[in-house]
Amino acid sequence: MTAVVELDGVTKAYPGGVIAVRDVSVSVEHGELAAIVGPSGSGKSTMLHLIGTLDRPSAGIVRIDGHDVAALSDRKVSALRARRIGFVFQQFHLASGRTAWDNVADGLLYMGIAHHERRARARAALDRVDLADRLDHLPHELSGGQRQRVAIARALAGEPALLLADEPTGNLDSAAGAAVLALLRDLHAGGTTVLVITHDRDIAAALPRQITMRDGEVVR
Ligand code: ADP
Repeated sequence: MTAVVELDGVTKAYPGGVIAVRDVSVSVEHGELAAIVGPSGSGKSTMLHLIGTLDRPSAGIVRIDGHDVAALSDRKVSALRARRIGFVFQQFHLASGRTAWDNVADGLLYMGIAHHERRARARAALDRVDLADRLDHLPHELSGGQRQRVAIARALAGEPALLLADEPTGNLDSAAGAAVLALLRDLHAGGTTVLVITHDRDIAAALPRQITMRDGEVVR
């Protein structure tokens, strides 16, 4: 089976000469739950952009779900990203005037899925994150932890190959953060591939695998 994420000798140099990621080779297999962890400046955001296909490497190969990103046009990369990667961010990024149900259903707009099917899938995704009783709540009527669960439902609704979470507990108190981590573990137990990017060593240590970065290199 192909890896969900495969980086082979990947380097990212920014204009001005900073090498943010240096010769990284790492893969994440189907069904893994892993953290990319490291201090500020170690290259985590750059890894997020490379793995999320939001940026291209200066050298090396990035394969997502078996697709070599360099071989694809920008349009094909956008389609790959939309269909195969579900993003979760620290700041949730929910639309404020839209209910939980609409926020999740709207995430499926660009996948060519009919309206009633979007609603049904969104409902099922909200059920998976245990928010079936909050379908019609607006983001401001939800706690931070519930908002993040809506964002996770939105990321899951399209059945992505990879759930890519950038500091998913960074904006939550410790109880809500622990609940989000427990949810990610549940999703992992159900077969979802999850990659968490975090500077927090305790969060990383709570996950089965840590990919530790320092100065742009994977050190462990
Ligand atoms: P982290 O997310 O772990 O804090 P980053 O990937 O943001 O690390 O940064 C890694 C290194 O690359 C840092 O030295 C940072 O200053 C540099 N860097 C990040 N983005 C840019 C950019 N757009 N232009 C130039 N240098 C950058």
